Amino acid sequence: MTKKNKGNLIIISGPSGVGKGTICEQLLKDTDSISLSVSATTRQPRPIDVDGVTYFFKTTDEFKSMIDRGEFLEWAQYGKNYYGTPLKPVTDKLNQGIDVLLEIEVQGALQVMENYPDGIYIFIAPPDVETLHKRLTGRGTETPEEIEKRISAADNELAMQNKYTYVVINDVLEDAVQSVKDIISSRSV
Ligand code: 5GP
Repeated sequence: MTKKNKGNLIIISGPSGVGKGTICEQLLKDTDSISLSVSATTRQPRPIDVDGVTYFFKTTDEFKSMIDRGEFLEWAQYGKNYYGTPLKPVTDKLNQGIDVLLEIEVQGALQVMENYPDGIYIFIAPPDVETLHKRLTGRGTETPEEIEKRISAADNELAMQNKYTYVVINDVLEDAVQSVKDIISSRSV
């Protein structure tokens, strides 16, 4: 199969709280040709999480064994938890010509860039830092300690946006989703 027949690897990244999950959800709802990669994580499931659908929930030992067996396309420690993209489902889909979407944090995206320079790298940025901090504090899914960690990680992540090919500012959700769709179409010819 030539490279042209392969699916696109789409990486949507950016700080926690920037709304990348909501953007991806909307994108997937509107576009049935894109497959979402389901990550593995050691974090505790939230009430809305479904094992095998939102994440594969793993113990730290299980996750580390997956690292040792080379089963991740990328992985990162974020806060006190591990997150990683299982490699095989991604390569299988790309080889079948299916576009695959990764919604991951910045350390992971930088690893993917090394192996998949042809990927579509989109950084979702907040309109301003204060808005991001407010969103992180207000969403009520993390402990105050975890929020503090995420705010400091977010500041470091924002500094990495110049590594990405595209930066989309999530001010008005519909506009951000449209910008992401336009970027993907422009790369899918
Ligand atoms: P959350 O705990 O809020 O679901 O995710 C925390 C952060 O981890 C988010 O920025 C999310 O995008 C990122 N994340 C989710 N899955 C992966 C993954 O497989 N690899 C990496 N590097 N980050 C991930």
